[in-house]
Amino acid sequence: MVYRYKQIKFIYLSIFHLIAIYQLFNMETYGKILLIAMPAFLLLVLFEKWYGWRKGFDTVRTMDMIASLSSGVTNSTKDVLGLSIVIVSYSWMVEHLTIYQVKSSWLLYVIAFLALDFAGYWVHRLAHSVNFFWNNHIVHHSSEEFNLACALRQSISVYFRIYAFLLIPAALLGVPQQVIAVVAPLHLFAQFWYHTQHIHKMGWLEYIIVTPAHHRVHHAINPEYLDKNYGQIFIFWDRMFGTFQEESPAIPAVYGVTRPVRTWNPIKINFMHLWLLMQDAWHTQSWKDKFRIWLMPLGWRPADVVEKYPVYKIEDVYHFEKYDTPAPKGMIIYLWVQLFCLLLIVSYLFGNIASIGLTNMMYYGLFIFAQVYALTEFMDRNPRALIYEIVKNMICVGGILYYGGWFGLQNYFGASSYILMGYFFASTATVAAYTSQLTRPLNHSRTLS
Ligand SMILES: [Zn+2]
Ligand SMILES: [Zn+2]
Repeated sequence: MVYRYKQIKFIYLSIFHLIAIYQLFNMETYGKILLIAMPAFLLLVLFEKWYGWRKGFDTVRTMDMIASLSSGVTNSTKDVLGLSIVIVSYSWMVEHLTIYQVKSSWLLYVIAFLALDFAGYWVHRLAHSVNFFWNNHIVHHSSEEFNLACALRQSISVYFRIYAFLLIPAALLGVPQQVIAVVAPLHLFAQFWYHTQHIHKMGWLEYIIVTPAHHRVHHAINPEYLDKNYGQIFIFWDRMFGTFQEESPAIPAVYGVTRPVRTWNPIKINFMHLWLLMQDAWHTQSWKDKFRIWLMPLGWRPADVVEKYPVYKIEDVYHFEKYDTPAPKGMIIYLWVQLFCLLLIVSYLFGNIASIGLTNMMYYGLFIFAQVYALTEFMDRNPRALIYEIVKNMICVGGILYYGGWFGLQNYFGASSYILMGYFFASTATVAAYTSQLTRPLNHSRTLS
């Protein structure tokens, strides 16, 4: 048994190292960027909640916001760990495809930005058009609210990036990899601000950039708004390729996905669609359908499966119940505290990538994922969340005692081990208290529809 465990561990670590080693430099830089970006995003999310509350139009539900932020934590952890496989790297393309080398440096940045936005439009459109690719994007649309926190719901299930192929125009003009590396995070972060209901129309800017009004349409499930406005920064791609839709006051946007996810757990949401496709491919009698289901238009299911295994789909967007779970006031306070602790714990990882080292980073990453999983299962009021808490926290306390501290934190701050152990005990006790309060049976069969 021990031997097998060691074998599996060796294979896992080897794959991880293979992917991660050449990215170590980028990981460190990206970790530092996140250390600045994370608190900035958090402050803006909190500001939006306060602003909405003051105006009497609060668009931020606490449970949904915590689910969104914890989804952002899993996404950034995955990015920092470098857990994705690049089929063809951009640097390879620049080396082999450049036909004209643009000299002017500012022009290189402009081309890089436009090329990224063009690629972004098509990747996004593909995610909304093909069954297989939707799995990468469903988490971004899974919230039934629309606010800044929703922007942070980003995928952890993108393992194969086809993005590089779409950057061929930049490669042809010789845009170096380093320029793409600088522009890409800026291009990504610039998509944050327009996830809000507090900004209405923006005059002439509506013709050039993606505004909150355009993106509200994109997140809406009203039949008139579905599959429109894929643009990331510039809206002219949509106008050019026929996917543009203006927001209309006569059609108030309803947000979410047509097959509601009915869970706060971002890790489950990330694999929900893939799981449904796998089940459908398994269940269908038709061999043709088993193969073609993956590349069929989004939402397509084999005819025999639709009949035998129906899934719930919202037909009337104006009459459906938003997902919610019972959360007493004390529990809400506990969730806020947990959110801040999670952000502190993940910040320590992002700030100490070099000293923590690759192998330990993998364990740290596993811990973050387990932490988010247990927390959001607790928010779903799943009684099993208590078991997850107990197992996770016992391993953590055991690890602190065995290694004499938390990933080197004891070297900066002597009392940290005691504080963390107290934190793990207190978390377990709180979850135990609320789990014992669960009086009414919760319908968990609804969570996978
Ligand atoms: Zn989308
Ligand atoms: Zn969005």
